[in-house]
Amino acid sequence: MNPRVTALLDQAHAAAAHGARLFADLADRANAPIRWITGPEDMSDTIRAIVLRFTSRAAKGQITLCPHLNELSPAPVFWLAWAPGRIRCIPCTEAASRRIKGTTEDRRCDYCRRIARLIHPEGMQLPAIVVDLPGLFAASGPVTIMFGLCPACHALAMPPSVCADLPAG
Ligand SMILES: [Zn+2]
Ligand SMILES: [Zn+2]
Repeated sequence: MNPRVTALLDQAHAAAAHGARLFADLADRANAPIRWITGPEDMSDTIRAIVLRFTSRAAKGQITLCPHLNELSPAPVFWLAWAPGRIRCIPCTEAASRRIKGTTEDRRCDYCRRIARLIHPEGMQLPAIVVDLPGLFAASGPVTIMFGLCPACHALAMPPSVCADLPAG
């Protein structure tokens, strides 16, 4: 295998492990269970729509990287549904989250766009990938998609029957 690819795979692997730890911490702090989605058929329409918003923006080149990231060094990164033009590193994610705190936008549902008194913070992690195709060589760390849902959308997005809990260990 191309040694550059091997090196990137190692980095992507490390970034994936780092991303998984961050995500577990996040879930722990929110006291929320981690659910394991194995394929699109496990996704509710709400979740699928939000993932699609991310992937179609990315495919159209409508997402830029924050200045601390680049395509050749995979690291855990974040996409915030309420600030969708950018993929951010951890400190930039924290700064963007602080900026919205306490504003009306902070109470807007990222699915139905209504303002709600209570917004459930949600997160979803897409795995790290390395792409080695003619003319395209890039790697991406795990992408954590962050969004907030009003109680009605939350109930539809996370029905308990949709996904099994992550197996222990
Ligand atoms: Zn950054
Ligand atoms: Zn909603």
